[in-house]
Order: sequence, then structure tokens, then C-alpha cells
Amino acid sequence: MKFRCGLEVHVRVGKKRKLFCHCPPRLSDTEPSLRVTRRLRAVSGEAGLKDRAAIFEERSGREFVYLFYPDTCCLVELDEEPIHEIDPESLECAVKVARLLHCDIPDRLYVMRKIVVDGSNTSGFQRTVLVGLNGWIEVDRRKVGIKSVCLEEESAGIVEKGEKKTVFRLDRLGIPLVEISTEPVITDAEFARKVAEKLCMIVRSTGLAHRGLGSVRQDLNVSVEGGTRVEIKGVQELEMIPKIIEAEVERQAGLISSGKKPEPETRAALPDGSSEFMRPLPGSERMYPETDIGPLDVPEVEVPETLEERLERLKRRIPEQLARQVLKSEYLDLVEKLSEKHDPVFVAHFFTSVLKDFRRRGLEVREEDVISAFSLAEKGKIEEKAIPDLLEEVSSGKAFEDVVPKYSPLDRSELERIVLEVAAENPDLVERKNLKALMGEVMKKVKGRAPGSEVFSLVKEVVSRRTSSASS
Ligand SMILES: [Zn+2]
Repeated sequence: MKFRCGLEVHVRVGKKRKLFCHCPPRLSDTEPSLRVTRRLRAVSGEAGLKDRAAIFEERSGREFVYLFYPDTCCLVELDEEPIHEIDPESLECAVKVARLLHCDIPDRLYVMRKIVVDGSNTSGFQRTVLVGLNGWIEVDRRKVGIKSVCLEEESAGIVEKGEKKTVFRLDRLGIPLVEISTEPVITDAEFARKVAEKLCMIVRSTGLAHRGLGSVRQDLNVSVEGGTRVEIKGVQELEMIPKIIEAEVERQAGLISSGKKPEPETRAALPDGSSEFMRPLPGSERMYPETDIGPLDVPEVEVPETLEERLERLKRRIPEQLARQVLKSEYLDLVEKLSEKHDPVFVAHFFTSVLKDFRRRGLEVREEDVISAFSLAEKGKIEEKAIPDLLEEVSSGKAFEDVVPKYSPLDRSELERIVLEVAAENPDLVERKNLKALMGEVMKKVKGRAPGSEVFSLVKEVVSRRTSSASS
């Protein structure tokens, strides 16, 4: 059976605060300090009609319990205080995404309320700002239309769902979310995955996208020929997209062949690629303007480089595999900046492997110390190659000024003293002219404070001096 699919990609963004209050945009790791119980009912949208999905949810008569975390929630999340001004950083991020996707951007931006009474918002609506429309993206040399780019509030997270009661956590509510909707033009399940991947890359290009579990979610709109349109919500892994589309086409085909008619509905994605009924598909009656905040000016932004463009630039300096690791790293900006004054391979390796190794070993290295170490190397106060050893000592509590002399570059006479010392300790190696073994011994003492080539030439010189004087 043929199908057409549209994607809605959601990515959490913003570093400083939530979209409409000043709480940090992250999940709490403390215990909730309050439990608040609410019931919600559907109200009419701007057109005076109640939305069918909202009526459905209201009829369930569910009770909602909200867990309040004092470090990540305030009265705004509880809907007990009017919203604050919009977070400018997330707004800029959404405008950048709209520009990268070649969207038309309205002259003024309006905050709207979208009625959602499944309990995932304490207010009974989700706030959303339409930032761009009628854009496009090119994937595999095919253009896919972008219907809209919106900036939205993340919903409250479900903790448990019982027969008559759902428990939500409020820390997630209000985290800024960029939502990109494509036109329903995708007819190939694997291609859908590629489009979703590229859209995520575009949002990450702003440098403000969150990482990790739950930070990206996809909804799939699948219309099956001879069947109907169904929305499947909450797909977390890109790899699951083809499987979910195929399962939905099969489900509708199964219904039709047994004489039933598939209904337009919203379904929830399940981990095995299938889905389950959530509620009827919402209509267009569920939007009305936010009254606590006026129209917004479009912020002026610089269109960022995409991650694809940055990958190309990185590949000119370091091997591709390493470049891809850097691209995924949270230190991408720093790696690019430091690569201008340091060996790019060393820098890339440091931020993708050495730092990870420190963490695995439980060593805490502060970013400011890393920056200080690189700046010391830049000024020639320490050798670049000694940065890992130096930071390891600093992380164990030693002060920079106590450690630095140990790693400062050796001058010629100091280096010669070490080589002579090693030669004296290993007369047999000198006699056998085993330069490699001697070099190894010297490097253990040099600890990166002199370039290998210089050490080698000195070892060679000392050995030839010793052996020629012994034979004469
Ligand atoms: Zn808050």
C-alpha cells in the first residue's frame, strides 16, 4: 500500500532558562517538594468550538498529580503566576533554524495557546510561537517542503499512568522546544529517517540543542492510500522511523482487509515499533492567542554555519573519523578555536579521548583549567604534549603554579643532562647502540617537555660520542 508521511521533529533547546520563566531548562535530580492535584476541562478555541481531542480527554475524568521540584520549578509551571517575557536565546535559536530552512518569517511573532487537556500542561494549553513557514530542506538531492518552524513549551513528563490518575513531573514543563513540521510528501520510510536526521543536524547547528535521552522526539503523520491519516507521537530513536511507518501501513491494511475502516487518530509509539491508541486526531479548533504576552519583534540573527559545513572544514585539518567525533562532541567550538594555535590532531584527540578517559577514571577536570593549560602551552610556558599529565596533577588538587615548572620546556643543557644520566644508568644499551630503548628511557624522564625529534638527535649524538671515545 502506498503512503505519504510528514514529520514533526522536536528538539529541546536553550541553555539559560525555560521559555516563559527563569527556571533552569533541565530535569531535576532532587526529590519533589510538593504534590499538586488538578483536573482539567476543555475550553473553546478562537472559533468558539471545542476541540474533539480535548473533549475526549475531558470525558476520561482523569485526575492529574504534579510533582514540583524546587530547583527547576516555580509558580509559572503551576500556572499560579503569569508567564515572564520569552527567553530571547531560544527565540533567536528558532529564528536561526527558520532561516537555515529557507522559511518565510512573519513580521511579528505571536504566542498562541494550543488546547491540550491530557494533563501534560497544568494550564490546559501549550504555548507555541510560529516562527517560520513555507521553507525547504534538501536531502539526497531531493527537496522536502517545510510547513512550519515553531518554538514551543515542552510538556510535563509522565511519571506513572494509572486507571484514573496520571502523575507528571513539572521540571520538564516549559523547557524550550523547536518544532519543525515537514509537508506530508515523504513516500519512502528510509528517506523519512534521513530527513529527520538532517533536521536534527540543522537544530544542532545553532549550538543550543540539548543532548541525551529525551532531548529529541519525532511525531509521524502517516496517510495511507485507501486508509486514513494517523499521527504517531513520541518516537525517540531515528532508527525506529522506518519500522514505525511500515507497522502503521500494515495495521491499516489489516483493518481494511477485515472490513473495518481505520479512524483518524493520535497514537503513541511503542518501543517495538508498533503503536497504541491515544485519542482522536485534534482538529483546527484548538488554537487561541496568549493574553499574557504581546506580539514579539523578530530578533536579528546571524545565520549559523551548518554542522555539515563545519565537518567539511574539520576534514581538511584532521582525519574524517576524528572529525566526526569532534562534531558530536560538546567541545566542537573549543576544538575549532584551539586548533588555530595548536596541533589540530592533538586538540581533537584531547577533547574526544583524553577528557573522556579522565572522567572514566573519576578525575574531575574543570573546563577553565583546560583552557588555562592550553593557554600556557601557547605562551611556551609548558609543552603542548604535557597538557594531559599536567591536568591530571591539577585535578588531584595541586595548584597550577606548583605543577607548571615540572612541565615547562627543557632547555638544551637540561635535556643533555637527562640524556647523559640515562646513558650512565644504561651502559649496555649505549654499547649496543640501542637508540630505541635509550630513547624510551629518556622520554620517560622528559615527560613531553621536549620534542621527540630533538631528544632523538641528542641521544644519537651522545651515543656516538661515547662509543667513539671508547674505541679510541
Ligand atoms: Zn519556572
